[in-house]
Amino acid sequence: MERLQKVIARAGIASRRKAEELILQGRVKVNGRVVTELGVKVGPRDDVEVDGIPIEREEPVYYLLYKPRGVISSVKDDKGRKVVTDFFKDLDKRIYPIGRLDYDTSGLLLLTNDGDFANLLMHPRYEIEKVYVAKVKGIPTREQLKQLEQGIELEEGMTAPAKVKLLSADRKKGTAIVEIRIHEGRNRQVRRMFEAIGCEVLKLKRERYAFLDLKGLRPGEYRELSPHEVKLLR
Ligand code: URA
Repeated sequence: MERLQKVIARAGIASRRKAEELILQGRVKVNGRVVTELGVKVGPRDDVEVDGIPIEREEPVYYLLYKPRGVISSVKDDKGRKVVTDFFKDLDKRIYPIGRLDYDTSGLLLLTNDGDFANLLMHPRYEIEKVYVAKVKGIPTREQLKQLEQGIELEEGMTAPAKVKLLSADRKKGTAIVEIRIHEGRNRQVRRMFEAIGCEVLKLKRERYAFLDLKGLRPGEYRELSPHEVKLLR
């Protein structure tokens, strides 16, 4: 048995707080009867309706995908390009990515059908550490790396402090490999941060998300998260 607001939130209809409001407003029915108290618990066989529309009660699933480059972090693409859910063709559940990686970025991406979980993880308050490895054109100076660490002025404001490490530099080719750890998840953040210090990102990979990494997976492969991993992320 689970709390009604959690079941509604998981279906992706609303955040938990919004789901509570829906209940208080009398917009939620359980087995055909309006429920307005917040303490109610429901089981997998109870019918739940919001504004008269039954909600899907799929069993929640959680996956970790090694997203290859050249794939859209979405469930469908107008231009017919490959999307991350194409790797899960045989799955009979409607999963979607938690956040996104750019088309050209590879690496760790979580997918789920649990809207509540996805909202939690994407909330800025959660500040999950993400580790990226970037191959950049040019070899950043110590001063440039320090700028990345201290914060970069992007159009929507300063980035939070980051941890940055120069992993290697190829002076002949004029390229470098840099590891950057950030807690935010703004659109194209890493690419824009490097651009701001005058370095073009040639390749970008997300190697870690919180305590999760890509061990044992090749691009295009995925695994299910263990219940323990899901619990630790919450
Ligand atoms: N930062 C980027 O610039 N791109 C990504 O895909 C992820 C983080």
